Amino acid sequence: MNIIFMGPPGAGKGTQAEQIVHKLGIPHISTGDELRLAMSQGTPLGLEAKQYVNQGLYVPDEVMIGIVRERISRPDSKSGFLLDGFPRTIPQAEALDQLLVSLGKRIDLVIYISVAREQLLDRTTGRRICKECGATYHIRNNPPKTEGRCDRCSGELIQRPDDNEQKVATRLDEYFTKTAPLLKYYEQKNLLQQVDGEQDIQAVTGQILSLLRD
Ligand code: ADP
Ligand code: ZN
Repeated sequence: MNIIFMGPPGAGKGTQAEQIVHKLGIPHISTGDELRLAMSQGTPLGLEAKQYVNQGLYVPDEVMIGIVRERISRPDSKSGFLLDGFPRTIPQAEALDQLLVSLGKRIDLVIYISVAREQLLDRTTGRRICKECGATYHIRNNPPKTEGRCDRCSGELIQRPDDNEQKVATRLDEYFTKTAPLLKYYEQKNLLQQVDGEQDIQAVTGQILSLLRD
């Protein structure tokens, strides 16, 4: 299964990916996580990405396409993959289609996790992530058992630097102008399915799993 998760920042893509990739035995490819890793390691990619990410802006298409090309070509993506956070623009979607054709693959399903804009500010500003394993929490909706510590690995929980009110506003604008038009792109290809992301985490997972069984 080759799957794409779409939805605005804070919709729950990462949270849902954590729930389902184990069940499916496919890698979770989060381009945001790849960028954050590169930035923390200070690689050339990370240094370039930093200028954009720190302002809440999208990293240029060519850079993102390069990352995904490399990642999808690795052996662990052979049995499938879950793409989270890519594509975010029409040129990225077109480049992905070309890349998949050249690898003899195709997208099977695009799942759009929908959440109203008013809720996304609370979701993102209340988000905390594990510094060690990347697990996602929310200070109210999905708190860890011990404050500030990851349930899975006891790592320190931190706030992403782009999860403050001002940057979230920019990221939501980027999403609604550049990424929302992609829904039509996948709808026209008959690949798009929508789930109501405003339900609790388990209910959203249930809906996604039922789509995957069909
Ligand atoms: P995305 O990857 O789409 O940006 P995340 O998975 O990081 O979103 O979720 C954003 C925040 O919202 C996190 O703090 C997460 O714990 C919380 N969250 C995710 N799904 C739900 C849900 N169904 N109900 C309430 N809060 C949620
Ligand atoms: Zn952890």
